[in-house]
Amino acid sequence: MTFEAQSHTAIGSGKENQDLALTGADWALVLDGANPPAGVDVGCEHGVAWIVDRLGAHLQDGLDNHEGALADHLREAIRATVADHGPRCDMTHPRSPGATVALARIKDDRLEWLVVGDAAVLLEDATGQVAMETDNRVYELPEPPDTDEGIQAFILQYRNKPGGAWFAGAVPEAADHAFTGHRPVAQVRRILLCTNGITRLVDRYGYGLADLPALATANRGPQTLIDAVRGAELTDPDPERWSGKRHDDATAVLVDFEVER
Ligand SMILES: [Zn+2]
Repeated sequence: MTFEAQSHTAIGSGKENQDLALTGADWALVLDGANPPAGVDVGCEHGVAWIVDRLGAHLQDGLDNHEGALADHLREAIRATVADHGPRCDMTHPRSPGATVALARIKDDRLEWLVVGDAAVLLEDATGQVAMETDNRVYELPEPPDTDEGIQAFILQYRNKPGGAWFAGAVPEAADHAFTGHRPVAQVRRILLCTNGITRLVDRYGYGLADLPALATANRGPQTLIDAVRGAELTDPDPERWSGKRHDDATAVLVDFEVER
């Protein structure tokens, strides 16, 4: 079976869209670049969107042309991205920029998935039940200290370290700490890959998990999800209660297996 995917991405309140959606004959992915705090040195002269673009290109090359487990493809894509930076960037910098990843592939009769960070794979079964696979480790860390020195030590301890939170960017080992799994493809009706700009519909705005693939199959396809999240943000009675950008970059890829069977 091959993929027939629909995708949509929309820029948020920032200057560039640091999300990316890509699809191939039997795979689909979303990436979401993680922005460092403004003005903080990250050891790299490239922008976050550049890193997302490089990671995406290398993942695409691997998934289209080579064998291997999803984590192997991610590890190779990170290695290749590190090589693309060149000698002027310090890839050992503890704040080296990276991205969250949600990736799905059909291999034989299995639907395989991989996530790093808070991008998500939603799997809908034949009965309409929806399960979400994501990686919330970044939200489970202790409160960071409020001194500069304390924050530096915190990042050294927890960023791209065992027991901490992983990002795909500078540390190939992040692939070994990805969450992965699989299901018989016959048990899957639809999958939806999305970045956290979309899942805030569930985390903030009262939508159920099952609403997301349902919205993504509405008239305007995955763009319907982005319309919903922008509508919720614009009518939020108290947007200041949330940290981060008012409108995050938002990206969704839908694969509807019912259409194909
Ligand atoms: Zn760089």
